[in-house]
Amino acid sequence: AKQRGKDNWVRFAPGMERPVVADAQLGADLRRGLEAGEFRVVYQPLVDLHLNRVIGVEALVRWQHPTRGVVSPADFIPAAERTGLIVPLGRFVLRETCRQAAQWLAEFGPEVLQKAGPNVSARQLHDPDFVDDVRAALADSGLPGELLVLELTESAVLRGQQVSRALHELHDMGVRLALDDFGTGESSLSLLRAFPASIVKLDKSFVDGIELDDDGTPEAAARQAVARAVIQMAGALDLDTVAEGIENEEQAERLRRLGYSLGQGFHLAEPMSPAEVGAMLAGQRVA
Ligand code: C2E
Ligand code: CA
Ligand code: CA
Ligand code: CA
Repeated sequence: AKQRGKDNWVRFAPGMERPVVADAQLGADLRRGLEAGEFRVVYQPLVDLHLNRVIGVEALVRWQHPTRGVVSPADFIPAAERTGLIVPLGRFVLRETCRQAAQWLAEFGPEVLQKAGPNVSARQLHDPDFVDDVRAALADSGLPGELLVLELTESAVLRGQQVSRALHELHDMGVRLALDDFGTGESSLSLLRAFPASIVKLDKSFVDGIELDDDGTPEAAARQAVARAVIQMAGALDLDTVAEGIENEEQAERLRRLGYSLGQGFHLAEPMSPAEVGAMLAGQRVA
């Protein structure tokens, strides 16, 4: 049922009517927070599973709220998408990521930082200025397009001509596109034929429990089969793969044996501040 907590965001249970009131309140707070500069970007390292080195980062937004503390994206991205505020918020994350990545690139060089990228919502892809925003973010930061990886979900990509044109323009600019949460959508395989992706990110749901023995649950065997199918498909289509949500060494080892060379997850490195990433990259500077 509809509840009013100790704060003034109204929460709705799933399946209820469109949360217009909640969105209006949260939207106003989001707009205020954007103007007040309350959003920041943290970075989760992308790790080479064989060399145990950071080779890139995924950018993840955080809201440092004056009364709520740090708010996680799961609690405001959906409302930001419904209200359209994801467009200015996403532009901020994009620009900040490019600025920060260009700084790391200048400091550490392209062997150390090979990829950096934000998540991009469907709503942003539909914005007619999106491609120009990306071009401007690259030009203003000096970041080469080849280092920028935009993470898109299947549902964001599955939306008609305009999006398809934007994706091809980005591809032509050298920007790389990653298909996020791969395997959770309904048409992953057919989508890859139409979509100029360079990277697929195997969803965490296939990594969870993948380390369990083959003689364990049928679920573990099914996850391994999906992970194996994804790596074979990626090899055939010349795509890079990243396994997401690796939480222990047994999972990392299983994925290595299946042929994965890049991973992300709390076991490898958690999302961290720019200063922490800088310290990590400095520790592995190539001589
Ligand atoms: P995602 O793009 O799939 O990002 C991965 C999420 O999994 C991140 O959560 C990350 O902190 C978390 N994660 C990483 N490794 C592990 C692990 O080993 N175990 C577990 N349990 N979780 C792990 P976060 O930062 O809370 O972001 C959640 C989602 O919010 C993201 O999922 C993405 O869809 C969305 N998001 C985050 N930042 C942005 C943004 O700037 N723009 C847009 N449009 N969406 C964003
Ligand atoms: Ca992502
Ligand atoms: Ca993901
Ligand atoms: Ca996700």
